[in-house]
Amino acid sequence: MSGEADDKDQAQQPQHRRSGDRDRRARPDTGTPSYLDPGDTVFSLWGRVLMARYRRFAAAATRHIIQRPLHIGVSARIFHPEPGATGLRSKNLQYLEESIAQWVMSRDVLVFMIPTVNTDGLLHPSNIRLRDYAKHLDGLVLQGGADVSPQSYSETPTRPEWSGDRARDMYELELLHEFVEAGKPVLGICRGCQLINVAFGGTLYQDIASDVPDSLAHVNDEYDRNRHEVSFPAGSSLAKLFKGKGVGLVNSIHHQAVKTLGRDMAVEALSVPDKMVEAIRYRKAPFVMGLQWHPEFHQAGGVELLDCTAILDNFLRVARETRF
Ligand code: MN
Repeated sequence: MSGEADDKDQAQQPQHRRSGDRDRRARPDTGTPSYLDPGDTVFSLWGRVLMARYRRFAAAATRHIIQRPLHIGVSARIFHPEPGATGLRSKNLQYLEESIAQWVMSRDVLVFMIPTVNTDGLLHPSNIRLRDYAKHLDGLVLQGGADVSPQSYSETPTRPEWSGDRARDMYELELLHEFVEAGKPVLGICRGCQLINVAFGGTLYQDIASDVPDSLAHVNDEYDRNRHEVSFPAGSSLAKLFKGKGVGLVNSIHHQAVKTLGRDMAVEALSVPDKMVEAIRYRKAPFVMGLQWHPEFHQAGGVELLDCTAILDNFLRVARETRF
C-alpha cells in the first residue's frame, strides 16, 4: 500500500515541478474558490468589492468628522493698565481664568483664547479680523468678568463705579455677532449671558441690590461659595435637559442681571424665589445660550451644585454639526 502511494507521488512530482506553482495542484476544477457563493457572478463580486471600498472611505471620513478635536474660542478678559503702575500692570493684559479653559477641555476639545484685534494699529497693522476667528473656530465661549457698560444698552451709569468695560463690550459684541453670523454656537458665562441679552437689544439692572431691593444677595463676600436655587421654566430647553430636576443649585457672583429681554430671547432659568433671569437662549440660532452662574466652578464647589456637563455637551454637539 505504502509502496503504491509513493509511486503515485513520484509520478506526479515531475508534473508539479514543471508547472512551477504548487498551489495550482489544490485548485478545484471549477476555478472558483470554495468560500465564494456558488451563485456569485463577476458583477456581484465587483459590486461587493466596490461596496467594501466605499465602506472604507466612509469610515475614514467619519473618523475625520468625529475624531478631529473641536476648536473652541474663548473671549479674553481684559486688564486695563493701572495708573502709576510699573511692569506688567502698566500694560494691557488679555487673559483667561484657568477653570473656564479646563472645564471646556474636560470634553477633549482644544481651547484658544481670542485676543482683541486692532486693525487701525499704527505699530502692528494687521488684516486679521474677529470674523477670521469665527471662520476658523467651531464655537465661542464668552468668559465672565467686568460689568457690561450701561452705554452698551443706551443708559448712563447710575454710579461711576458701575460704568463697566465699554472696550470689552465692543470687542465681545463683534465677536458674538461674527459667530452667530457664521451659524456657530455661543455659550455666555455670567457677563457673557448679560452681553448676549444686550446684543439683541435687551437691558440690564445696573445693580440688582439697588434696583430690586427685596431680591436675594446675588453677590457677596463669599464669592463663588454664594449660591441659590434656579428653576427651569416649563417648555425651556434646560427643563428638557434636566428633566425630573425641578430646580438646581448654582453659584451667584453677579450684581447685574437681565432686566428686559432682548428680541427672540427665551428665559431658560429663574432664581428661586426672587425670579431673576439666570439663563437665556436666542431662539433663532441652533445654540446661543447665556448662563448667569459659573458652571466651571461647580465641580470644585461640591456635588450639591448643578452638574452642567450636559449643557457643555449640547454646545459642543452643535459645534460639531456646524463645523463644515
Ligand atoms: Mn444669581
